[in-house]
Amino acid sequence: MKDQVLLVTGGSRGIGRAIALQAGTLGATVVVNYQSNEEAANEVVNQISNSGGKAIAIRANIGNTDDVNEMFQAVKEQFGRVDVLVNNAGITRDKLLMRLTDDDWDSVITTNLGGAFRCCRAAAPLMLKQKGGVIINIGSVIGTAGAAGQANYSAAKAGLVGLTKSLARELGTRNIRVNAVCPGFIDTDMTQVLKPEQREAAIKQVPLGRLGQPEDIASVVLFLCSPGAAYVHGTVITVDGGLFI
Ligand code: NAP
Repeated sequence: MKDQVLLVTGGSRGIGRAIALQAGTLGATVVVNYQSNEEAANEVVNQISNSGGKAIAIRANIGNTDDVNEMFQAVKEQFGRVDVLVNNAGITRDKLLMRLTDDDWDSVITTNLGGAFRCCRAAAPLMLKQKGGVIINIGSVIGTAGAAGQANYSAAKAGLVGLTKSLARELGTRNIRVNAVCPGFIDTDMTQVLKPEQREAAIKQVPLGRLGQPEDIASVVLFLCSPGAAYVHGTVITVDGGLFI
């Protein structure tokens, strides 16, 4: 990935962090987006820099159009291009339907689905100008399977599949490949909220017998960036240890 610029939203922790670190190892210039955890974002940047790579951190709330546009403007000014956009940042506000507030609904849709839309819209002019690019949206198996208490999250993740397929049709002829990766249960801060018994129950459902690690997702994302994936387009790849066979 030498000479390529990869921007990952939510690159400070969890899956985004693993994507940033693997991309840095492969020689990409990495833009680590985060919302509030500056220390964690800087730690990722330092880890890449200390192993001879190039990275910067940019704070931007992907739920805010001005923040997103300013982030892409900064990347344009500093590097002149974005070769890979990974729409990874996401949140949960889990509640059963009758307790779900408008704010729970809106914040999850605005961040998880609207954030990816805003970033794609801001990245597209750069990718069109450079005559190519790769967009990877991080969905979830919950987007297709659904989950009690996750109507907002599931709807946002299902929406990401529609966004992925529509943009694949719209941008494919311009050499911009668009795909989605849908993780199962991955061991990150997002799943730390599970009680030990819920965690055990989750593991029991996985034929591979373990939670996924952030690196399990990152390696598939990095494959999608590679020349080996040159004909993979508009597809949704599930990475869940067999959870939803
Ligand atoms: P995580 O550990 O909770 O990390 C979330 C990341 O998103 C952090 O870097 C956070 O930044 C960033 N973020 C949150 N809201 C943001 C906003 N408005 N603007 C910019 N950045 C924002 O999450 P994760 O488990 O790695 O999940 C990453 C993605 O994978 C999400 O889209 C999630 O839905 C999806 N996923 C996760 C699992 C799982 O089991 N973990 C399963 C399926 C799908 P700060 O550090 O600044 O807070």
